[in-house]
Amino acid sequence: MHIKAQDLGFTYMKNTPFEKRALRGVNLELKEGSRVAIVGHTGSGKSTLVQHINGLLVPSEGSLTAGEVEIRPGTKQKTLAKLRQQVGMVFQFPEHQLFDETVEKDVAFGPLNFGYSREEAFRLACEALGKVGLHDKELYQKSPFDLSGGQMRRVAIAGVLASNPDVLILDEPTAGLDPQGRINMMELFSDWQKEKQERSYVLVTHHMEDAATYADYIFVMHKGSLVFEGSPEEVFSDEARLKQWGLGVPKSSSLLMNLSKRTGAPLTVTAFTPED
Ligand code: ADP
Repeated sequence: MHIKAQDLGFTYMKNTPFEKRALRGVNLELKEGSRVAIVGHTGSGKSTLVQHINGLLVPSEGSLTAGEVEIRPGTKQKTLAKLRQQVGMVFQFPEHQLFDETVEKDVAFGPLNFGYSREEAFRLACEALGKVGLHDKELYQKSPFDLSGGQMRRVAIAGVLASNPDVLILDEPTAGLDPQGRINMMELFSDWQKEKQERSYVLVTHHMEDAATYADYIFVMHKGSLVFEGSPEEVFSDEARLKQWGLGVPKSSSLLMNLSKRTGAPLTVTAFTPED
């Protein structure tokens, strides 16, 4: 699905003393079948931006077009609901959103809600559970709250995948995981994306290695504006500029390895930690 934001602006609690302008004049385009990351310091507007892509927020200014759907200030809930079916959202700690009595019912909830028949919804649930690596059918009848933390997160992600979205928004999906857990989780999304050419994901992350490894194109947010976009090589090529945006290249060689894998040439980016 092709997505385009034009002069997108958003203000929280508009016309109150607590008014907060979180996005200003954002112009961005996501092609079908893309793997992009949005990076930026805490509070730069990343979450606010991605919540527009799946219709959780309505712009205060400008517009966002996603496939056939266009949202502008004043767009009605019915239109937003259409967008939510096509764009799945994996929040930080998605396991906090589990609620149903069994794993199977929890995962089937999305497809049922989007109008699939019972039979089809449970078939999609089963397929999605397999995709996240949960193949043991006995587990499907258990309460999601009786599972381990890692399994709970997988069930919650299966709940998003089951509705068959074209686009996945991944808002810090690896929060709280150890390095191997992070890799496993990101590989899962990467495999999901590769399965169908038209699928895309948008990864919001503060792990620069994840952005370098799992995105072909990166958008940089700073103080509510989109300040830069380009390939990982371009984004990570200028240390002073990264510092200005409050971003750091972690003291790890994996980022450099991931970047040089793309270009085939060794890269020299000096590691530093931001002073925040
Ligand atoms: P990021 O995802 O980059 O950390 P956010 O989009 O969450 O940034 O936040 C952008 C700005 O909007 C920040 O200044 C934040 O404090 C503010 N903000 C976020 N959510 C709310 C909210 N629900 N009410 C008021 N202000 C908010």
